[in-house]
Amino acid sequence: MTGAIIDGSKDPLPDALTVDVCIIGSGCGGATAAWDLAKGGREVLVLEEGGDYTGPRLTQRDGEMYDQLYMDRGGRSTTDLSISVLQGRVLGGGGVINASDVVSISDDVLVHWQKQHGLTDFSPAQLAPFRDQALAELHTNVPAEGQLNANNRLLRQGTQKLGWAGEVMHHNRVGCAGIGTCLIGCPLDRKKNPRFVAIPAALESGARFLTRVRAVRIEGATSELKTVHARRLDAKGYREGAPLTIRARHVILAANAIASAQLLLRSGLGNEHVGRHLMLQPQQPVVAIFDEEVRFFRGIPQSYAVTQFEEPATADRGWWGFRIEAISGTPGIVASLIPEVGEVGTKLMTGYPHFAASLLLTPDHGQGRVKVESSGRLRIEYALDDEQRTRIRAAIVATSKIYLAAGARQVVVPVSVPVRMSSEADLALIAGISLAPATSPLMSAHQMGTVRFSPNAKDGGADPDGLVYGTRGIYVFDSSGFPTSASSHTMAPIITVSHYLSQKLLARGG
Ligand SMILES: Cc1cc2nc3c(=O)[nH]c(=O)nc-3n(C[C@H](O)[C@H](O)[C@H](O)COP(=O)(O)OP(=O)(O)OC[C@H]3O[C@@H](n4cnc5c(N)ncnc54)[C@H](O)[C@@H]3O)c2cc1C
Ligand code: SF4
Repeated sequence: MTGAIIDGSKDPLPDALTVDVCIIGSGCGGATAAWDLAKGGREVLVLEEGGDYTGPRLTQRDGEMYDQLYMDRGGRSTTDLSISVLQGRVLGGGGVINASDVVSISDDVLVHWQKQHGLTDFSPAQLAPFRDQALAELHTNVPAEGQLNANNRLLRQGTQKLGWAGEVMHHNRVGCAGIGTCLIGCPLDRKKNPRFVAIPAALESGARFLTRVRAVRIEGATSELKTVHARRLDAKGYREGAPLTIRARHVILAANAIASAQLLLRSGLGNEHVGRHLMLQPQQPVVAIFDEEVRFFRGIPQSYAVTQFEEPATADRGWWGFRIEAISGTPGIVASLIPEVGEVGTKLMTGYPHFAASLLLTPDHGQGRVKVESSGRLRIEYALDDEQRTRIRAAIVATSKIYLAAGARQVVVPVSVPVRMSSEADLALIAGISLAPATSPLMSAHQMGTVRFSPNAKDGGADPDGLVYGTRGIYVFDSSGFPTSASSHTMAPIITVSHYLSQKLLARGG
């Protein structure tokens, strides 16, 4: 069988197809499963609603790239507009637009899943080969000292001055030229993401990838052959067009923790856990302004993390605490995060070359929920609780201390009303940050938990093989299944778990 990438917006296609395995989503979860299952001899078809963007098609222009590479053109948020929910929508998924940091799922987290969530199959020993495989596929390496830009170096400088722990993060870039637009795709194709590893390997094993095709509903959940109803999209992915029907023995959902649950809910499949337990790992930005030019938009955006405040695994919650990571942004996203408009906002943006910034990542406990209204509209419901607000404020205090120790002229917390600090005496202002809904530009890059794995249908939406309860042959192979935060980053954990579940499926003769 010959593999192929077929553009559903223009290439000829029959109205109906029958395959062994239909995978929905071509990101870390989907591309990995496609590779393993095609290599195992299964006829695999992957549906991907995004287009295929590599090399010069990644134009480095904010407007065009958010429009084409992100879900809802980068404008997706929780229903109360409190948290921006960022997700990739492109062949290769989020790996194409992510910050390229590689952090594995730790033994502590796996032991927690075994003890607290009954996932006895997810032992460190069983997952170890797949974790190693994921790290090897990602070409995991540590950036050289000369690749750390001033933004990351300043975060490290302040952290070290305070005697706190931190690390240069592993990444999956090879031959990075430091252009700095990773979050809207690398025009030099230097990220070893699924588009350049799992997808070519899956193609070689005969998998077919249909881009610009959206799965809209699944029928026949308990039949031998399931039916996936899909729609072809136009070239830009704006409008649904002709229908397409795929019949498959196995349907694997790897559309991301929001879309996988959305599709099950739209199809009326699964138990009451589907859509619940959503984790967003909210991230709060903090900006520092230095007298010297930082030019944080040049070089690798995110390569240093402050690990001092992470807790490897608490008894009831798993990985906890908070983590601080340097970050940069292209002008569009930075301007949208700065809580000023008009003349004041414009003046502030003229200082763009002097900005340094960090994201403060706080693991959560799954209080969110994905819903689909009868009109078909997606709702992402999520509310910070008091404990989280306290932890976010503690993270803001720590970050502000770091920047002041590194010599920042001013630290700005972009909340409404913005908090500006120029000495330790101003840190008291942080206690007044309410973090009330829609008052802070919180964002989420790591969604998890909406069809969580559990050996018991009373506690989760899918069994430890990823099989969605109440179905025969419909699986989730993405972070929907994670019962708690797998790590501070999701790419390596999703690849690990997808390999593990794919091999289990093959071993069962599926
Ligand atoms: C801005 C940003 C930065 C990040 N930085 C990092 C980082 O540095 N390190 C890290 O480890 N992680 C990072 N992440 C997270 C990580 O990239 C994602 O968790 C991961 O890519 C998710 O993989 P996935 O396979 O579950 O889903 P995705 O990669 O989201 O892939 C799902 C695919 O399914 C498609 N799809 C959805 N619904 C349908 C449908 N109905 N029909 C057809 N196709 C559909 C989507 O278009 C998408 O391409 C970041 C994420 C973002 C958004
Ligand atoms: S910083 Fe490196 S990986 Fe990112 S866009 Fe530039 S060359 Fe590509």
